[in-house]
Amino acid sequence: MSKYLSKSHSELSAYVPGEQPKDRKYIKLNTNESPFPPSPYAMRLARQAAGDLNLYPDPDCTALKDIAAEKFGVEPENIIFTNSSDETLNFAFSAFCDSACGAAFPDITYGFYKVFAELYGVEYTQIPLDSDLKIYVSDYIGIGKTVFIANPNAPTGILLSLAEIEQIAAGNMNNVVVIDEAYIDFGGESAIPLISKYDNLLVVRTFSKSRSLAGGRLGFAVGSKELIEDLNTIKYSTNPYCVNRMSMAAGQGALLDEEYFKHCVGTIIENREYTVKQLKSIGFSLTDSAANFVFVKHANISGNDLYRNLKEKGILVRYFDTERLKDYVRITIGSISEMNALIEAIKEIL
Ligand SMILES: *Cc1c(COP(=O)(O)O)cnc(C)c1O
Repeated sequence: MSKYLSKSHSELSAYVPGEQPKDRKYIKLNTNESPFPPSPYAMRLARQAAGDLNLYPDPDCTALKDIAAEKFGVEPENIIFTNSSDETLNFAFSAFCDSACGAAFPDITYGFYKVFAELYGVEYTQIPLDSDLKIYVSDYIGIGKTVFIANPNAPTGILLSLAEIEQIAAGNMNNVVVIDEAYIDFGGESAIPLISKYDNLLVVRTFSKSRSLAGGRLGFAVGSKELIEDLNTIKYSTNPYCVNRMSMAAGQGALLDEEYFKHCVGTIIENREYTVKQLKSIGFSLTDSAANFVFVKHANISGNDLYRNLKEKGILVRYFDTERLKDYVRITIGSISEMNALIEAIKEIL
């Protein structure tokens, strides 16, 4: 740390992304990326856009917004596009978490919520999951804080129903409820249709998981016109050109190529069900995941030992070094050959 760093930032502990080691080639099942390349149409549009990189991109992302509005059944002014959903969440913490009101989220969830809260000096409450690692909806009713819920939750993969999400939105009409739907395409029902009924509801989405564009950094939020206006105030006070031309074009292609999207998501779901069955048959317990990963533990091996042994065999999974999660590892669902390699490696380790 330099002596020049602002006092308010001197205590920050930054988010630690999943490791991306370069020492050898790994089967990467640790950061929930898609095993599939982007849609060929998305790649073609991105290549075309490269020819215009001398010009600033459209800060409103008009063409992309129009396509998304049609696809999700909302108006373009209900949508904001950003450089990743991490950036959308950043804007939401900045816009909607007055330090007086603060933020609330589960104790076990996406690790970035806490980092953003600390970055903006927002008071936050971490609400414990129950012993099954599930979210108690009643904990969030009338909580008087800005609520952040990942649905399905990470790293458990456990899904809340649309009715439960609606209860949380209805139970907090004086506060914003942010639903982070990074994994919703792998088995959940989106809360986007509820935004016309709840002007406090903000749904955050990403192109990184189900649309194979993690490297393109593209995310968006859907909410009432007023919430989106507020987020635009933050966006235009930070970096109006946050979505670059190539990612904007790739995003259009990814949304328009519905057939490819369905094929990829369908295959991941099949591979997940296959992996769940295989892991259960060799003694693992798993949370009921509706995401592109599984969260697993085995009575005969700790999470850390499993993680280290798999890494030695060239397979990366995610391990969380905390008291409640230390028995588990989180495994991204990849291609079927990656899953078979994983299962063989685990059998040898056990
Ligand atoms: C991966 C993930 C994100 C981040 O997505 P990006 O758009 O790549 O920043 C946000 N929330 C959750 C719960 C995630 O798992």
